[in-house]
Amino acid sequence: MVKVNEKCVGCGICVPFCRKKALKTYGKLIIDKEKCINCKLCIKYCQINALEG
Ligand code: SF4
Ligand code: SF4
Repeated sequence: MVKVNEKCVGCGICVPFCRKKALKTYGKLIIDKEKCINCKLCIKYCQINALEG
């Protein structure tokens, strides 16, 4: 599954690219595991490689 690592600064740039609305920021990014289908689309939108999986 896609995971957020310690590099995340909570900028929110990746949030609107999740078609399942599984992403939100609360200080850092939080992935709703109930909604995430692990498509990995969000990974390419984080410019600092804080998403991996
Ligand atoms: S994962 Fe990357 S793009 Fe998404 S909120 Fe964190 S730093 Fe920003
Ligand atoms: S892997 Fe896909 S469904 Fe899961 S949070 Fe990223 S964009 Fe959304």
